[in-house]
Amino acid sequence: MKFKSKYIVPIGCEGIYQLNTGDWRTRRPVMDKEKCSRCGICFLYCPVFSIEKKGGAFEINYDYCKGCAICAYECPEKAINMVPEEGE
Ligand code: SF4
Ligand code: SF4
Repeated sequence: MKFKSKYIVPIGCEGIYQLNTGDWRTRRPVMDKEKCSRCGICFLYCPVFSIEKKGGAFEINYDYCKGCAICAYECPEKAINMVPEEGE
């Protein structure tokens, strides 16, 4: 069986399912690229590896970001703001 995701979790009695932890999120981190110094601290602290390094910059993968705000708390430049998910 092939999964698109690296995150798979067994749920229930019928088998193993893919779980996108981004489905749990009530707030999302938004990165201000003007303020970002590209230090990589958010990348190191994210507990679900949702921050990816792309060409020397960092991007948030919202499929798996669960909105815990650790990245925003740890960012030394205060370049990440937590905003409510639309529809909340
Ligand atoms: S911790 Fe802040 S300044 Fe450092 S890469 Fe992440 S967003 Fe940019
Ligand atoms: S809010 Fe949490 S899960 Fe989402 S990118 Fe930041 S540290 Fe990772």
